[in-house]
Amino acid sequence: MQSAPPPPYTEKVSYESAPPPVQTAQPIFLGSPVVSIGTYPVQCICPHCRTQIVSQTAKKPGLLAWLLCGGMALLGFWLCCFIPFCIDSCKDTEHYCPNCHILLGVNKTI
Ligand SMILES: [Zn+2]
Repeated sequence: MQSAPPPPYTEKVSYESAPPPVQTAQPIFLGSPVVSIGTYPVQCICPHCRTQIVSQTAKKPGLLAWLLCGGMALLGFWLCCFIPFCIDSCKDTEHYCPNCHILLGVNKTI
């Protein structure tokens, strides 16, 4: 009596590696620093720590404040020329990640 041949090796082995998880419908992705975003904190994914965060904003005197200051100084308004540095709308808004404190982007006044 002949023994039956061993069954062919039928187990399928998939060599395809699983594709990387693709996140869809994600909030604003701030890929590179110094992008134009608003003056208010925005919900985004930090490109550095890959965490969904709401950006922290910081006001810094921008080009507009310096131009107004210079213009006022040229016109003789020496006492008023520092006022633009006190007005938020004359300042640039910098957005930082509250998690890793990296600069996400800057909203420039001009
Ligand atoms: Zn971060």
